Amino acid sequence: MNDALNELRKALPPEAVDLTDDGRFRASLDNLRYSRLPQAVIRPVDEEMVSTVLILANRHRVPVVARGAGSATTGAATPAKDGWVIDLSGWKNLHIDADSMIAYAQPGVTVEELDRAARAHGLFYPPDPGSKKHATLGGTLSCNAGGLRGAKYGVTRDYVLSLEGCLPTGEFVRWAAPLRKFVAGYNLRDLWIGAEGTLGIITGAAVRLLPAPAEQATALLAFASGTAALEGVRRILRTRRIPSILEFLDRPSVRGTVAFWKKTAPAKLEALPLYIRENSPPLLLVECDGAEGRARADLDILIEAVSGLAEDITVSATPDEAENLWAVRRGCSQAMFELGDTKLNEDVVVPLDIQEPLLNFVRQTEREIALPMPVFGHAADGNFHVHILYTAADADAAKRAADGIRRLMEFVVENGGAISGEHGIGLAKTPFLPLQLGEAEIGAMRRIKDALDPNNILNPGKLWEPFEVWNHARTPVRLPWDH
Ligand SMILES: Cc1cc2nc3c(=O)[nH]c(=O)nc-3n(C[C@H](O)[C@H](O)[C@H](O)COP(=O)(O)OP(=O)(O)OC[C@H]3O[C@@H](n4cnc5c(N)ncnc54)[C@H](O)[C@@H]3O)c2cc1C
Repeated sequence: MNDALNELRKALPPEAVDLTDDGRFRASLDNLRYSRLPQAVIRPVDEEMVSTVLILANRHRVPVVARGAGSATTGAATPAKDGWVIDLSGWKNLHIDADSMIAYAQPGVTVEELDRAARAHGLFYPPDPGSKKHATLGGTLSCNAGGLRGAKYGVTRDYVLSLEGCLPTGEFVRWAAPLRKFVAGYNLRDLWIGAEGTLGIITGAAVRLLPAPAEQATALLAFASGTAALEGVRRILRTRRIPSILEFLDRPSVRGTVAFWKKTAPAKLEALPLYIRENSPPLLLVECDGAEGRARADLDILIEAVSGLAEDITVSATPDEAENLWAVRRGCSQAMFELGDTKLNEDVVVPLDIQEPLLNFVRQTEREIALPMPVFGHAADGNFHVHILYTAADADAAKRAADGIRRLMEFVVENGGAISGEHGIGLAKTPFLPLQLGEAEIGAMRRIKDALDPNNILNPGKLWEPFEVWNHARTPVRLPWDH
C-alpha cells in the first residue's frame, strides 16, 4: 500500500490527502463505533479527482470507502479492510429549481440543509431521518434512509430522479435524468440507492421536492399497554387519514427517558404531561399535515378513532408545545445508555398483523436473556427499532445479547418481515443476510458486484462477509449527534 500512497500523493494536491492521526481516526468509524484506521483520508475537490483515486486504487488493489457524516449505525462507513476513505462531506453545492420542484445537490449537503433550502421556495424534501442535521445526501442515498415522515411520504428512493458519479473502475456515469419519467435501459440508478457505497461513488443527485404543507397538528396518546397502543395504530390506519408521523414508544423507552431526564434535564421533564412523568405509559406520537385547517381536522378524526382506547391525550396548540411532545421521542435513544454501555440497535420491519406478536416476542426474549430490550419506531411502516442493552465487559451478557438478536432476526424473517428497513446491512447485520435472502438472490447480487467492481475495491467487507459485532471492541467516543 505504500507504493499506492506515494502515487496518490503525487497525483493529488497535498491538501487533498490527510494523513494525520486525528483525521484518520475521525474517518475510522461511524455510529456503530467500531474503529479501523484508514491509511489516508482523501478530500477530492472534483469528479476527476474521485476518478483518479479509484483508478489508482484498482491498480494497487487498495480498498476505498466513500464517507458522508459517518452516522450510519451498522459500520457501513467503517473502512473494514483499512485502505483509503474518500470524504465527500465538504461537497455542498445545492441548487433549487423551484418551478420544476427539483433540487440538484452534491453528496455532502445534509438532509436538513436540503430541506431548509427547499422550504425557502415553499417546497420541502420529505425524507427526514432522525439524523437529518448531520446525515448527508450521499449517505442517505446509499443507505436508502427512511425517517419519521415515512408513514405518509415514503423513503429516500421515492424522491430520486437521477444520480451521477464514478463506477468502482473510475469511469464517470449518469443514471437516468432530472425528468419525471425515464425509461432507457436498465435502472442502475436504483441499484446504487441502498448499495451502501459498494457499487459506485455518488457525486451528484437530482431529487424531487413537494409543496410544503401549510400546517402540522401533533398529539401524544398514552395507552395502558404496548398491545393497546398497537391496536391504536390499526384503528388510526383504518381511518384512511394517513398521518405524516405515527411513532410508537414502549413503556421501557418512556421510562428510560423519564429516569434519564430526572438526572440530567429536569426542565425537559417538567415540560412533559404529568401522566408521562408519573406512569411512563406506552405512547403514540401522531402528527398530521396538510392545507390550512386540514391537518387539525385529520388529527381530530384519528383521535376519535382511538377514543375509549387511549387513556390520556395531549394535543399541542403551538409549535413549542409540539416540540415538547416530540422531545420524549427524540430523547429515548440517548437515554438507553443508562441501561448498559453497549447498544445493539436493530430496525426490523414486520407486517401490520405481526406488530403485536413482535412486541410479545420481545418481552418474552427480554425475560429469557435477562437484558433490557426497549422498542420504539415508525409504527405505520411496521419498522421498529428493537434494542438490546448490555455491559461490554460482561462476556456472558454479550453472549446473551447476541443470542437475543439472532432470535429476533429469525422471528422477523419467519413472520414475513425484513431484517432492516432503513439502516441497511453494513457490518453489523452481515450474519443475518442469509436468513433474509436465498443462495440464488445473494449469488445474483455478488455477480453484479463482481461485474461492476472486479477488484472488489469499493467498501469491501460489507454485506457478505460475516462480522460478529458483539465480538469486537467498540470505541467509546462522543459523536456529533450525542447530546
Ligand atoms: C441519531 C441518529 C438517528 C438516525 N435516524 C435515522 C432514521 O430515522 N432513519 C434512517 O434511515 N437512518 C437513521 N440513522 C442512520 C444514518 O443517519 C443513516 O444511515 C444515513 O443515511 C447515513 O448518512 P451519512 O451521511 O452519515 O453516511 P455515512 O455514515 O458516512 O455512510 C453511510 C454509507 O453510505 C456510503 N456513502 C456515503 N457517502 C457516499 C457517496 N457519496 N457515494 C457512495 N456511497 C456513499 C458509505 O460508504 C456507507 O456505506 C440515524 C443515525 C443516528 C446517529
